[in-house]
Amino acid sequence: MPMVIDETPLARKRRARKMYRLLHERYPYAHAELDFETPLQLLVATVLSAQTTDVTVNKVTPTLFARYPSALDLAAAEPAEMEEILRPTGFYKAKTRSVIGLAQALVERFDGEVPPRLRDLVTLPGVGRKTANVVLGNAFDVPGLTVDTHFGRLVRRFGWTEETDPVKVEHAVGELFERKDWTMLSHVLIFHGRRTCHARRPACGACPVTRLCPAYGDGETDPAKAARLLKYELAP
Ligand code: SF4
Repeated sequence: MPMVIDETPLARKRRARKMYRLLHERYPYAHAELDFETPLQLLVATVLSAQTTDVTVNKVTPTLFARYPSALDLAAAEPAEMEEILRPTGFYKAKTRSVIGLAQALVERFDGEVPPRLRDLVTLPGVGRKTANVVLGNAFDVPGLTVDTHFGRLVRRFGWTEETDPVKVEHAVGELFERKDWTMLSHVLIFHGRRTCHARRPACGACPVTRLCPAYGDGETDPAKAARLLKYELAP
């Protein structure tokens, strides 16, 4: 259930910004965990990350992009060959079809380049607002909020919004922060969701925002037990 807390819009904005500051201090290295060098690579990696971890995607993408460096190469790929490369990511037949279809659309409609605008990106097959915002925020430096499952769960626990629809969540949270902070805020919340504020058992006793979070107590509050729940699998 989303937390409803009685506060003015200004108080909510101040509380949200304070929480962001504390979480940013906890995860100063928060970043997109998918490896990429170009917008095309990030777009494809994001599509591949469905139903699997970024770590797994990062294991296959070097081979994929060495074999198919451009959208044209991806569009003309032999499906069976690409399937073998993508197999470790799961659903590899469907993902192969998605990647080839996406690359064909890029070649046909955008000269093989990834368009840097939300309204163009979401016209590509298999690309929704979440994927588009990942690409805009990280490959084009256009501020974007990435409302994935972690982000949605956390902002409702935080009492920043009661909305459940991802587009409404994006707008409600966007109102609380300056645009320049949107991309880093997304990384920080996704890191917090993966490492501390887990879906089933949040590690409340080891969390930096306990005093500002109305959901404190939903998870383990004993500091020693909470510390054992932390998952810092990718921390430097
Ligand atoms: S206090 Fe608990 S529920 Fe709130 S953000 Fe921290 S871990 Fe999540």
